[in-house]
Amino acid sequence: MFDLMIIGGGPAGVAAGVYAARKHLKTILITGEIGGQSVVSEGIENWIGSPKVHGSELAKLFAAHLDAVKGDIVALALGELVVSLEKTSGGFTAKTNTGTEHSAKTVLIASGAGRRKLDVPGAEKFENKGVTYCASCDGPLFSGMDVAVIGGGNAGFETALQLLAYAKSVTLIHRNPDFKADPVTVKKARAHPNMHIIMNAEPTAVLGEQFVSGLEYKDKNSGETKELPVSGVFVEIGVIPNTGFAKDMVELEAFGRIKVDPRNQHTNVDGVWAAGDATDELYHQNNIAAGDGVKALEDIYLWIKKH
Ligand SMILES: Cc1cc2nc3c(=O)[nH]c(=O)nc-3n(C[C@H](O)[C@H](O)[C@H](O)COP(=O)(O)OP(=O)(O)OC[C@H]3O[C@@H](n4cnc5c(N)ncnc54)[C@H](O)[C@@H]3O)c2cc1C
Repeated sequence: MFDLMIIGGGPAGVAAGVYAARKHLKTILITGEIGGQSVVSEGIENWIGSPKVHGSELAKLFAAHLDAVKGDIVALALGELVVSLEKTSGGFTAKTNTGTEHSAKTVLIASGAGRRKLDVPGAEKFENKGVTYCASCDGPLFSGMDVAVIGGGNAGFETALQLLAYAKSVTLIHRNPDFKADPVTVKKARAHPNMHIIMNAEPTAVLGEQFVSGLEYKDKNSGETKELPVSGVFVEIGVIPNTGFAKDMVELEAFGRIKVDPRNQHTNVDGVWAAGDATDELYHQNNIAAGDGVKALEDIYLWIKKH
């Protein structure tokens, strides 16, 4: 029985792991991998203390920091994903996809979020045949081609900026009349001669035979259905929280995010905390997730001392 089980190895889980080691809480950190969502980012420019770092480099720094402090206090269950979480006498038990069980007195859920899939005809059929969710992984495959990006948030614009380095043209399709992305990022993309933006448009189908040949969308201003000839469709329409395994344990809000007390990250269940993008935190950023993890750890430490 560990003192603490941390589920997730993104900035929230790793920050919590570092603090757990320093506070000598016997901890098991269970995670698919160390790094989290921004591992695919070409350049993170707002991780405090580092003007620009590649996502994969940041992941290496997380792993190195944890490694430097964990000693025999924090154990790692790498490559394991929690599939269920139960209350047991004296604590909590998690089962993972490898069939392993881990038990601890307290739990910190820092399982983050995954990509929301495009739900239109053809999107699933053409996944990896032109429909993709990772510009830094697949962008170079579309060198010299016309591509579309779906989504007007930061991820959509960052994707467009990455693709402009390879693609013949990038058309960003956004369903609203204004953007969620930071104005500085929008301005940078707009300044590029090969960048096109279609606002107030809803994708309706991905077209093609063997591979993607176009994107059909509805122009919400005119009500017309139009076709955009593209070879690639990059989807950046948001994220869904990785909280399925905890849905019968803690209270979730309408989008499946875990409700927490923002002062200390505590959930509605005694002994369970949550941090980062898996929670109903309003803003989703690396620094915020790490801060949430630290906040939770301070509270977990006091809770364990008290019990
Ligand atoms: C492309 C992209 C670029 C971004 N760029 C920036 C940026 O420049 N600056 C910035 O501040 N933010 C950026 N973000 C947002 C930032 O990455 C997130 O806010 C942050 O990663 C959230 O951290 P987290 O620890 O809560 O969760 P995540 O980073 O999502 O990490 C979750 C962790 O939990 C693990 N996990 C998931 N399910 C389970 C399970 N069932 N069992 C065990 N482990 C599990 C995963 O393997 C992962 O290690 C970006 C996001 C994306 C997608």
